Amino acid sequence: MIIRFLGTGTSQGVPVIACDCPICTSPNAKDRRLRSSVLIELGGRNIVIDTGPDFRYQMLREHVTHLDAVLFTHAHKDHLAGLDDVRAFNRQQGAAIDIYGTTDVHEALKREFYYAFSAKKYPGVPLLDLHEITSAPFTLFGREITPIEVMHYMMPVLGFRIGEFTYITDAKTVNDTEIRKITGTKILVVNALQRDSHISHFTLDEAIAFARRIGAEQTYFTHISHRLGLHNEVQQELPAGIFLAYDGLTLDIHEALDESS
Ligand SMILES: [Zn+2]
Ligand SMILES: [Zn+2]
Ligand SMILES: [Zn+2]
Repeated sequence: MIIRFLGTGTSQGVPVIACDCPICTSPNAKDRRLRSSVLIELGGRNIVIDTGPDFRYQMLREHVTHLDAVLFTHAHKDHLAGLDDVRAFNRQQGAAIDIYGTTDVHEALKREFYYAFSAKKYPGVPLLDLHEITSAPFTLFGREITPIEVMHYMMPVLGFRIGEFTYITDAKTVNDTEIRKITGTKILVVNALQRDSHISHFTLDEAIAFARRIGAEQTYFTHISHRLGLHNEVQQELPAGIFLAYDGLTLDIHEALDESS
């Protein structure tokens, strides 16, 4: 399983439009963050978690030529605004794209992309095959995927565990039942927005505390704001085994052969 970080920024991305702070003007490529998303390459299949406003550019940058499924975490714009661009894959593959999300996500998709769901479709609209999921495990391409329900202030958001890898974004609180589902994960990705407290996102300290509680071999922070600080400076402060993700970072996860869930 290969994980590629397509974007690691919060809803506005980094740099923020019209901001001249030291982070937004940093010459370090690791301080430039598109909206959060990952590409999972699993047994020859390409799965994307979330299609934010930068989806088109992310597919071009990573030379993705085939897409098998999209998993949605929640219906905020920074996680779904780019879905229209799956049209390119529809055309290449001659098929609809399998979309996995909760009822809330499906309702939002039908609102935001109403033209893809109308009875008489205009030619060339995105072809989306919606699959409804809940917090119960489901099977995708022969692999069990375990949704992890976290709270984004009042809003439920799904994280996803696939074998030894868990991806969680936009979390503020996670209850004990959901934490048990993550136990034993080797690679954890979780959101760390900024240092100051925030109503709907883990701060840096909260993300570190969460990472320590889960105890994964490696934890990567994502959904990062320009308020967090310069990549290189923040990275130096982090405890062993905890890293700031950055756009383009690739993780090659070697799974044990007997590991089938
Ligand atoms: Zn977000
Ligand atoms: Zn800034
Ligand atoms: Zn959100």
